[in-house]
Amino acid sequence: MAHDTRPTPSDHVTVATAEPPARIVAARSVVRAVQAEDSLEGAGFLVHRPFPTRTLSHFDPFLLLDQFGPVEYGPGEAVGAPDHPHRGFETVTYILEGRNYHEDSQGHSGILGPGDVQWMTAGSGIVHSEVPEAEFARTGGRINGFQLWVNLPARDKMMNPRYQEVPSDRIPVTSTSDGAVTVRVIAGEALGTRAVIDTRTPIMYLHYTLQPGATVAQPVPADFNVFAYVIDGEGTFGADQQRRGHGQMVIFERDGDIVEMSAPADAKQPLNVLLVGGVPLDEPIARYGPFVMNTEQEIRQAINDYRDGKMGVIQR
Ligand code: FE
Repeated sequence: MAHDTRPTPSDHVTVATAEPPARIVAARSVVRAVQAEDSLEGAGFLVHRPFPTRTLSHFDPFLLLDQFGPVEYGPGEAVGAPDHPHRGFETVTYILEGRNYHEDSQGHSGILGPGDVQWMTAGSGIVHSEVPEAEFARTGGRINGFQLWVNLPARDKMMNPRYQEVPSDRIPVTSTSDGAVTVRVIAGEALGTRAVIDTRTPIMYLHYTLQPGATVAQPVPADFNVFAYVIDGEGTFGADQQRRGHGQMVIFERDGDIVEMSAPADAKQPLNVLLVGGVPLDEPIARYGPFVMNTEQEIRQAINDYRDGKMGVIQR
């Protein structure tokens, strides 16, 4: 439209202009922070787990976050999670250090190294194995990384399993022009850069690195549940600028459409933080170990289907 819409002195009504209505932008406040608890998983490897714990069962639509490591393993010491099933949700593995080997009942296998992401939609059921890669296990070394469980809506719980495996060099990375803020965009969008991973419901999964003195204001949809997990360093979070450190999960209120994070100017090291969000499913959760469904009946069905071999076996 090229016609002139500027108000004239004779106008008595509001005139539409080319500008969109002013949007009210509000920084979210912090509800609370949760300290990760130590837990032994799989064949006995240590994880730091902000949830599920006794204080936080889940954070809709997320069911679990584990940080495995950072830990230094000697030769032959590293262990993993041998053959086990999943149904009804997604497991997202993001490696920072070390090398993992995985294989599954759908015939996939591969190695995940630093920066690689595996987004596995278990759907109706899969059996897989997640262990240190053989050569890495033999020589030992440092392991650090994350596993996030993303719940599937009822309509997708029995979908066919699918994989998205994205090597580090295909994960979009972008920085501010001054280099003070860098973000790896695993899911969603940040600093104008969009992720390559496709999610069943809208999910944001960002790995931010802030140099001392840097601040980010990440836009988030108003209906997203959002948390930050401090990998290392210290930061201030939210409109109230709460100061939090490594191993803490910071939960934001749903009271705004911007999430603010800063690294203190006097910090000795950069702030490394995961910023994760999604639309809550608001559906009943029935969970039993590796199965997460909506009802107890569906859990019993999952156990029976696994016992009957309907989730397959890993062919070796
Ligand atoms: Fe698993």
